[in-house]
Amino acid sequence: MKQGGQDSAGTEPTGGPAGQVTIRFLDVGQGDAILIQSPEGKTALIDGGRSSDRMRDYIRDLNLDKLDLMIASHADADHIAGLVPAATLKPRVFINNGLGGTTQTWERLVKNLQDAGSTFTKASNQTVNLGSVKLRVIAPPPGMGDGQNENSVGVALQFGTFRALMTGDSETPETEGWLAQERDDLRGPFQMYKSIHHGAANGDSAAWLAYVRPENVVISVGASNTYGHPTKTALNLYKQAGARVYRTDRQGTVTVQGSGDGTYTITTDR
Ligand SMILES: [Zn+2]
Repeated sequence: MKQGGQDSAGTEPTGGPAGQVTIRFLDVGQGDAILIQSPEGKTALIDGGRSSDRMRDYIRDLNLDKLDLMIASHADADHIAGLVPAATLKPRVFINNGLGGTTQTWERLVKNLQDAGSTFTKASNQTVNLGSVKLRVIAPPPGMGDGQNENSVGVALQFGTFRALMTGDSETPETEGWLAQERDDLRGPFQMYKSIHHGAANGDSAAWLAYVRPENVVISVGASNTYGHPTKTALNLYKQAGARVYRTDRQGTVTVQGSGDGTYTITTDR
C-alpha cells in the first residue's frame, strides 16, 4: 500500500486524464499475466501464464467478457498457455514478436484467435490507445536471431504522468540493444516495473535498471519453482536500484491503480 509520485495538481490539463488505470499482475504461478483496464473500461491482456485453468478462473472471477487487445511477449508456454482460453474473449487485435511457436499450445492459440476474428499484428514500436491509456509496444531491437526470450515484446504504459514497463523474458542482449537505441520511451522513471524473466540472472542488469529507474518492481514467479527464480543477483539489483519489490509467489496478485497526475496505489492479495 503506497502512494507515490507528486501531489495531485487537480483537474486537467495539469492533472492528466480523468480516472485511473488498473494494472493487475495476476498470480499465475511461474509465468506472466498482466491485465490492464482503462478508466473507460477498455481491456488489454499481456501474456496469460502457464495454466489455461487458472486463466479461466480469473476470467470468471473478474467478470471479463471481452478483450480489446492481447499481447504475447513471446511464445513460451509460461506466457501463452493462459492466452488460449482468453482468446475466446475475442480481442480485436493480437500483437506478438512475429515468431510463431512450435508447440500445440501455440497452434491452439492461433486457432482461437482466428475463430475470434482477431487481427494479427507484429510489434513495430506502434502506440495503441486503450481508451485514455497509451501503450507503446516496444519491438525487439535488430540482431536478436530467432530465440524467443531475446525477442520479447515490451510494453511501456503511459497514463498522464503515470508509467509502467513490462518486457517479458528479455535477456541481456535485448536490453543492451534497447539501451544502444537510447530510446526515450524506455527512459525512466517508471512507477511500476515488471522484473525481467521472473528474476532470472540473465534479465535485469545494473545498466538497464539505471536507465529505466523503477520505483516498484513486481516479480511474477511461482513458489518453489525449479529455476531458482528470483535469483539473488536480481534481488540485489533491485535493492541497489532503491526499488520496492513485490512478489506474486508471496503476495499473490499485485494490483496498481495509477492516476494521470502520477500518483498510484498498490494493493496485494496477501
Ligand atoms: Zn517466462
